[in-house]
Amino acid sequence: PTDINALADEYLRLAYHGLRAKDKGFNATMNTDFDDTIGKIKVVPQDIGRVILNLITNAFYVVDEKKKSGIESYEPTVSIRSKKKDGKVEISVKDNGNGIPQNVLDKIFQPFFTTKPTGQGTGLGLSMSYDIITKGHGGELKVETKEGEGTIFIIELPMA
Ligand code: ADP
Ligand code: MG
Repeated sequence: PTDINALADEYLRLAYHGLRAKDKGFNATMNTDFDDTIGKIKVVPQDIGRVILNLITNAFYVVDEKKKSGIESYEPTVSIRSKKKDGKVEISVKDNGNGIPQNVLDKIFQPFFTTKPTGQGTGLGLSMSYDIITKGHGGELKVETKEGEGTIFIIELPMA
């Protein structure tokens, strides 16, 4: 049984400090909103941790890119929230990057698909995450995106 809020919080810090260590200029606002009535759920913590870490790393990457593109008033922001919904637990990772265009969205869960420059992305994060959530945990991994505004990935896990 795993405290999913603590796990998400731990990986958020890990991702943030990891990026700061590589790039001192990296900065982003992090918001958390955890439902503390969730309790512990039965998952493979290392696997769910990897999924969360990948979603957060992707989110930090896109907000950092957007900031570097030089929009004056832009505040890079990544938000993580957890909640209970219809007997399931939802963990969402939201960014205010540029969103995902339809032709890219069609391919994001395919292994080795990446839009990152050579050497910066393996394109394995989301395909691996998808398998961990669906095959490994009987859950679902969903995405909602709006071009120019940002993206939200939603992990849905069964409670029992
Ligand atoms: P990688 O991070 O190595 O590129 P992923 O499987 O994690 O591989 O992601 C695949 C692709 O999906 C990314 O290269 C990017 O094009 C797109 N993507 C993933 N997350 C986001 C996001 N939050 N905003 C915009 N595009 C994203
Ligand atoms: Mg990735």
